[in-house]
Order: sequence, then C-alpha cells, then structure tokens
Amino acid sequence: MNKISSAEILCVGTELLLGQIVNTNAAFLANELNLIGINSYFQTVVGDNPSRLVQALKIAADRSDLIILTGGLGPTRDDLTMATTAQFAGRSLVLHEPSKQAIEGYFTAMHRNRVTQNNWKQAMMPTGSIVLPNYNGTAPGAIIENIENGAMAKTIVLLPGPPSELRPMFNESVKPYLLERSSQKLRHLFVRLIGIGESAAETRLMDLIDQQENPTLAPYASEGEVMFRITQRVERDDEPDLTQDLLKEVYNRVGEYIYEVGPRKLPEVIKDLLIEQNRTLSLAESCTGGLIASALTDVPGISTVFKGGIVAYDNDIKKQMLSVDERILLQDGAVSENCVKAMATGCRDVMKTDYAIAVTGIAGPTGGTDEKPVGTVWIAVAGPNRCEAKMIFRKGNRARIRRVAMLYALDMLRRELV
Ligand code: ATP
Repeated sequence: MNKISSAEILCVGTELLLGQIVNTNAAFLANELNLIGINSYFQTVVGDNPSRLVQALKIAADRSDLIILTGGLGPTRDDLTMATTAQFAGRSLVLHEPSKQAIEGYFTAMHRNRVTQNNWKQAMMPTGSIVLPNYNGTAPGAIIENIENGAMAKTIVLLPGPPSELRPMFNESVKPYLLERSSQKLRHLFVRLIGIGESAAETRLMDLIDQQENPTLAPYASEGEVMFRITQRVERDDEPDLTQDLLKEVYNRVGEYIYEVGPRKLPEVIKDLLIEQNRTLSLAESCTGGLIASALTDVPGISTVFKGGIVAYDNDIKKQMLSVDERILLQDGAVSENCVKAMATGCRDVMKTDYAIAVTGIAGPTGGTDEKPVGTVWIAVAGPNRCEAKMIFRKGNRARIRRVAMLYALDMLRRELV
C-alpha cells in the first residue's frame, strides 16, 4: 500500500464555523501528524451540510494523501459525515454487528435502558472499512482505504467530534496505523526545562538549533512550559540512535534546568518521586488559590501521595488553619519569608504529611507596594527535617504570575526530593 506523506484535516460542524467552539481537534491532530512525520498542509472547517462537505472532500482529495475528518458522527439527522463520506468514496453503508453490540453495551453501562432507533445509525459503516471502536462514546470511527476516485487521497479517517472520544481513539487505533504508513520514520526526545525562560534557553542552544540536520533540535511550544524536541529521521527502526549525543550537548548547556527527558510533565515527575521515596505531600496556597492542587490532581494515581490542601487566602485562615503566628503577620506581612515558612510547617503538621509546599504572593494587578511590587511571590517547602523558602519575582499579568508560582513551587519540591 502507498506510503502517506501529506494530510489534510477536515472538521465538520456548524458550531465550529459560528465560533461557538474552538477547533481543538485540528490543533491536536496537526500536532500528532507532525510527530508521526506526515506533513499536514491544509485544515478546513465545513458546516453540517452534505453538498459543501462533498466540495471540501473533493478539494482535499485532490491535494493530500490522507484526509482526517472529525465530527458529525452522532445519531441525529444533521450528523451526516459518515454517510456523505461513504458515498464520496463509492462505498455503501452496512450494519456492523460488533458496533451495534458495543452501542448496546454502552447504553447498559450508562444505565440508559432504551437505545433509540437513531442510535443504530451509528453502527452503519462503509463496506470494507476498518472500524475503530469507541470506548468513550457511541460513535465508532472508520478508516477507508484504497479509495479509487482518481484523486490523490487514497485514505480517509473518520473520527468523532468530542475530544474526549477523538483523542483516545486516535492514540489507540489511528496513531499505530499511521506510524506504519507514514513515508518518514522519526525518533523523538522531549527535553523539558524549568527555571529558565524560553528565549534564554534558545540563546544558549542557538548554534545547535541552527546547525543540526539529523538529528535536529527545535523549541517546542507546550502550555507555558519550556520544551525542546530532538528529532532523528531514520530509514529503519534498528538504525543507531543519534539523539543521545545531541542530548549530551544540550545537557552541557542547560542541564541544570532539565527536569525530564520524556513525556512526563512536572506534576507527574513529582508524583513519581514521592511514590519512589514513600513520602506524602500537602499544600498551603494563598495567591495560587488551589492551582497547585489542581495541577497535581490532574495526574491519575496522585492520591497515594497527595493528602490535601488549604487555600489560605485570608490572614484569619492562615492563623486558624495553619497556626501562623499573628505577630508574623503584623511585623512581616502575609507576603514574607517568615509567613511562608510558618504556612509550610503549619500545613505539614496539621495535615500530618512528610512535605508541605506553601505559596504567598501578590498576583495583582493591584495591591503591590514599592517594597513588595505585584509579582512578588514567596514559596516554601517544609520537609521532615527542614524548611526552605525563596522569593521569586515575575512581571506579567495575574494568570502568568500565578502559573509561574505554581511551576516554581513544584520545582522547589522536586529539587528537594532529588
Ligand atoms: P456525537 O456522537 O457526540 O454527536 P459527533 O461526532 O457527531 O459526536 P459533533 O456533533 O460534530 O460530533 O460534535 C459534538 C461535540 O464535540 C461538539 O459540541 C463539541 O463540543 C465537540 N467538538 C466537535 N468538533 C470539535 C472540534 N473540531 N474541536 C473541538 N471540539 C469539537
């Protein structure tokens, strides 16, 4: 079968066209295609309208090897992606018995007794297609291969619209398929940094970014994190790994800031370190208002090590819940070394954990003084034997200051644990 080198993402949904939802599926898929080594040259959005969908399919099929469609696989009448695409590909729809049973099973599991008649529509799949099971919803996906319409696209992938269904289906069924069929093989390493800004890191790595051809080094945008990607193009899987030499050089330049080479984000690294060391953690958050607790509880399995947190926003709460001495609050103020240390040790003791992180700062936009301007944040980590504190100062808006405080607080604990 032909290799795939170019792809087009075609998202179906009038809500997308009207701006009622953001097209996160396209962003997710484009990023994944890039990692697989398939060039994603075009993205199209089309409403729930069969003739315009056919127009978009024709255009896409003339210029790309692969079309990935998302949305419009639902049970209602305006969900027309499967039927329209099957017709475009010259396939009829037939009942796919395993999908019918899966839909029944899904309804039973959700304690919804009656499968409505239109739900069976979702079990009608194009003849000869590969059916992709949906473990998080009712609409199965499909891969239609060997399309003979004289156009360039020979393969169409259809995925459900809800990201909570699309992402797992892509990871479980589509990604392995595309890795086999991609015309390029890539080997990636993700290098994650904390404690250095992106432009400072880039400056230190600039010559490596500019000079390397294979493997390459490139900055990689990732939700406020500083991250670089090392990518080696290979012909075969057993080719020697050249990424390690480049990684060594990256370590020479910015090693002190690297917290992970791999897929784990900071909260996950923290979880694994705490589990390895059989230690527990609690949080006393003022200006981050639960942001750290939220980041930690995003990680499955954190409950074995994370016991809980107190959002101690008001001074009375700092006193009552964390036993912060009133004199500290009067003399030093809530945003001070003494206060953050008292919050951390108080939290560790009241929650009976091995470690506690405390954060107190001025996230703004108002409330700063000359002595303590907006962006001043004190962070402390109390451990079994000692309590360390440090101040950071970051310019920026409220959201950024809070986010940076969250990351630095987690990093401070990480450094304590390693
Ligand atoms: P369902 O089986 O739930 O009806 P579907 O495959 O028919 O799914 P749509 O009806 O098109 O999908 O979209 C369902 C929901 O999925 C949308 O309301 C929206 O919340 C989300 N969604 C759809 N397309 C996208 C997209 N491109 N990006 C992000 N979210 C999307």
